Amino acid sequence: MYAGRLVESAATDPVFYDARHPYTLGLMASLPRIDVDDVVIGSDVDLRSGRRLKPIEGQPPSLLHPPPGCSFHPRCDLADIGGACTEEVPALRRVAIGHTAACHFADDLEARAAAVGTADAIDLVHAAPVVEGPTA
Ligand code: SF4
Repeated sequence: MYAGRLVESAATDPVFYDARHPYTLGLMASLPRIDVDDVVIGSDVDLRSGRRLKPIEGQPPSLLHPPPGCSFHPRCDLADIGGACTEEVPALRRVAIGHTAACHFADDLEARAAAVGTADAIDLVHAAPVVEGPTA
């Protein structure tokens, strides 16, 4: 949920391994890891990856006067400002079986990050924690 709207829905594994909305990726990238041995209290560095935890910059939007287009666009590193993201509310649509997302670029966030070309955009797509799944 973001600004009162469902923006991504899937079972747990796709959310962890294949998130398709930048807000979900932002939430994942801001999670401290608890599955590491050497937790440093007060540190914002993920000791496994060595990266800093990445906050989602900015503030949640007004629900009375939400921004035009995608309500996440003022905070989104992948936003197409002046294009689809500020012009059109993205529909919640199916991106895989049992997986829906409301982002204009949900089908290929990596390509969008490459097109944006900023370190923030690329980090967003690649900074989400890689969680080892259960082994069979
Ligand atoms: S539609 Fe645009 S602003 Fe909204 S989450 Fe996707 S890339 Fe970001």
